Amino acid sequence: MINLISDTVTKPCTDMLNFMLQAEVGDDVFSEDPTVNDLESYCAALFGKEKALFCPSGTMTNQIAIKCHTQPLDEVICDHYSHVYQYETGGYAFNSNVAINLIEGTNGKITAQQIASAIKPVYDWLPISKLVVLENSCNKGGGSYYELDEIKPISDLCKEKGLKLHLDGARLFNVLVETGESTKAVGKLFDSISICISKGLGAPVGSLLIGDADFIKQARRFRKVMGGGMRQAGYLAAACKYALINNVNRLKEDNQKARDLGGLLATLPYVKAVRPVKTNIVIFDLKDEITAEFFLDRMKNEGIIGSAFGPQTVRFVTHLDYTDQMHSEVLNVLNHVSL
Ligand SMILES: *Cc1c(COP(=O)(O)O)cnc(C)c1O
Repeated sequence: MINLISDTVTKPCTDMLNFMLQAEVGDDVFSEDPTVNDLESYCAALFGKEKALFCPSGTMTNQIAIKCHTQPLDEVICDHYSHVYQYETGGYAFNSNVAINLIEGTNGKITAQQIASAIKPVYDWLPISKLVVLENSCNKGGGSYYELDEIKPISDLCKEKGLKLHLDGARLFNVLVETGESTKAVGKLFDSISICISKGLGAPVGSLLIGDADFIKQARRFRKVMGGGMRQAGYLAAACKYALINNVNRLKEDNQKARDLGGLLATLPYVKAVRPVKTNIVIFDLKDEITAEFFLDRMKNEGIIGSAFGPQTVRFVTHLDYTDQMHSEVLNVLNHVSL
C-alpha cells in the first residue's frame, strides 16, 4: 500500500534504529536521562530559548502550554481550523477550564486585526482573553503557512495587550524549508513553541515544548500530572535527535511532491478545486456526485490510501516513506483512474 493518510505513518529507518540502540539513558522523571537532556538543550538553543521539554505527543505539548498560560475562566483565541480546537478532544476545556474564542481566518490563518477585534474587554461576565494560538503550517488549512512578517504584528499586539502567544508548530519545519526563515527568528516572536518530531521528520514518538525557564519548570509539573513523565525516554529522544539532524532539509522533497500532486489534480476532470498547496498537504474537492468514500475506494483498489476530509473532500499527505517510485505510481493512477 502507498500510504498518504498522514505524515505520521513513517517507520524508523535502520540508521535511526541503530542510533536509538546506542543511546545512553537514565530516568527522565529525575531529569537523569542524558539523551533527553541533550535533545531538550538542542531544541531550546535552536529557537534561542532557555529550556525545552520532551513529551510523548503534540497534543500534550499544546495542552501543557494552554495550561501554563491560562487560569480557569480565561479564554484562548485561535482560528476555527486550529488543531487545539478541532483535534485535541476539547482538552482546552477539560485540562484548563478555559473558553475558546474562534476566528474565521483564511485557510487557517488569522490576522492581528482579527485578533484585536476578538480580544474581550474586562467585565465580570466575560472570560479574560489570555492566550493566542497560531498553527504553522495549518493542517486543516491545507498546509498553509504564515511568513514571519505576518506573525510580527500579531506578536507585537499580544505584547501590547498582555496576551501570551503560543505556536503549534507540529509541521513548522515544512514551512521553514520553504521560507528560508530561521528557527531563532521564530523563537523571538512566541512565548512558547510546540514542535512534533513524529510527523514528517520521521521519529516514532516525540514532541517538544520550548520556552523560557520558568515556563518549562511549570510545564514539567503539568507533564507529570498528565501522565507524560517517561523513564528511559532517551531511546525515543535519540530518534528525535537523529530526525532533527538528518531529516529537516529533505522536507523540501515532500513539499515538492505535494505540489506535483496538487498541480496534476487541478487539471483532472473529476476534481472541482484544490486548496493552494504550500507544504506537504494536499486537500481537494471532488466534482459532481463523486464522494470521497467512493474515490478513496477506487484508489485503494490501486494500492493507494488517503483520507476523507469531508463528504467530497480528500486529503493526501506526503512524507519520508513516500518514495519517488511511489510518487510516479500515484501520479499515473490519478491520471487514469476511472470514476
Ligand atoms: C499532529 C498535530 C498535533 C499533535 O498531534 P499528536 O498526534 O498528539 O502528536 C498538533 N498540531 C497539529 C497542527 C498537528 O498536525
